[in-house]
Amino acid sequence: MSTVINISYILASILFIFGLKMLSSAETARRGNMVSALGMLIAVVATLFYQGMSYQWILLGLIIGSLIGATAARMVKMTAMPEMVALFNGFGGIASLLVGWAEFHAARDSSSFTLIAISLAVLIGGITFSGSLIAYAKLAEKMDGKPLLFTGQQMVNAFLLVAAIALVLIFAFTGSGYTPLILMILLSLILGVLAVIPIGGADMPVVIALLNSYSGLAACAAGFVILNNVLIVAGALVGASGLILTSIMCKAMNRSLANVLFSGFGATTSSSAGGGYQGEANPVSVEDAYYILEAARSVVFVPGYGMAVSQAQHVVRELGELLEANGAEVKYAIHPVAGRMPGHMNVLLAEANVPYEQLVVPEDVNPIMSTVDVAIVIGANDVVNPAAREDENSPLWGMPVINVDHARTCIVSKRSLNPGFAGVDNPLFFKENTRMLFGDAKKSFQALVSEFKES
Ligand code: NDP
Repeated sequence: MSTVINISYILASILFIFGLKMLSSAETARRGNMVSALGMLIAVVATLFYQGMSYQWILLGLIIGSLIGATAARMVKMTAMPEMVALFNGFGGIASLLVGWAEFHAARDSSSFTLIAISLAVLIGGITFSGSLIAYAKLAEKMDGKPLLFTGQQMVNAFLLVAAIALVLIFAFTGSGYTPLILMILLSLILGVLAVIPIGGADMPVVIALLNSYSGLAACAAGFVILNNVLIVAGALVGASGLILTSIMCKAMNRSLANVLFSGFGATTSSSAGGGYQGEANPVSVEDAYYILEAARSVVFVPGYGMAVSQAQHVVRELGELLEANGAEVKYAIHPVAGRMPGHMNVLLAEANVPYEQLVVPEDVNPIMSTVDVAIVIGANDVVNPAAREDENSPLWGMPVINVDHARTCIVSKRSLNPGFAGVDNPLFFKENTRMLFGDAKKSFQALVSEFKES
């Protein structure tokens, strides 16, 4: 039986790898999800054939977990998805911690190798759990999103880390039992909190990706604890892909991971940081915006968090189709950190059936932006802020942005001149070629669509 189980695990691991590969393109992503899910089904079924399983507990866990998961998935709003992902990562972490603890309690194997694996599952799992709860609280605005800094913070963190390593060694090599384990659990929970509180809300996407990676590493350690091959492979895959995503997000913001984790980005920025740009914003009526668009031969839509808030994606696609019917070339430029989670805009536009081939990345659209007739910004702010290029004192300085200000005309749809998530003022609103289309994005776009249909 153990051969059959191990062959099933290899099959499951292969399916995970192919599934992940397919997730890298929008066309194959759906199938990739199915392939990975099939791999997980095979892994779960194979595991049920292990000897000594207590099916009643598994069934109970399955029922409770499914009920909570299904209810949460149905109830959570699209805009609250990042918080949900943060919580899921946290649960992954606490699960690994509990596996490590339970295995120690069962005292099946007290070799130093197993004890080190238990320590890692507990430490990384605990950090992931409490860190994810803080990330959740910041994203859900149950806690101030600003970085929380105190003097000597990094010294305290370094001290706690050294203490944790000492505890691992004591636990693994002296056989002193429960006391170092409990101390390790407490320390990991404190470390998780301390690691995330100095990170500002605007850097949460990177933290979520990193915590996702940690939850994978914790699962991998738990795999070594219970000697389960598929858990080791799946954990390593999650750990590695989380790290890759973290690095992509850091590149998108032109920052190093160390800068994100330790600089307290946003701590010194007030709600209108970055120069308090002065000038006259030019509002535009729906009717005038219609005339500008009607004459345009090329249009680039740039969605941001506001599109998710107003759920404007369907009407945006409708306007895109009307513009195409009117002879314009239409593209949708997506910034990697637009919205509140990686891929946020891709998901919304896919939901609205925007063709994949119309989606473009900043590197491709920026060089041709000066030839674009109209760039329409839909509830985006930080990701189109030209201060990142023009103002060395801006907290966003150096972040790659979509250069909508280089288009012949830029229409910005948002409700006010308020800053975006990073709390940084945006000089785009005062540029000569910018027109502010004030109001809820969905309502503004519905009005624009009506203008097109009535003409
Ligand atoms: P921003 O948060 O910079 O700006 C969103 C804008 O949407 C606001 O300025 C707001 O302006 C406008 N808005 C809100 N509601 C509506 C509405 N109903 N109709 C029209 N507009 C609306 O968004 P971006 O997408 O440009 O940038 C994302 C930011 O979030 C970056 O700083 C990024 O680092 C950060 N972030 C990204 C994550 C990710 O993984 N993608 C996760 C967490 C943070 P107003 O109030 O005037 O309407």
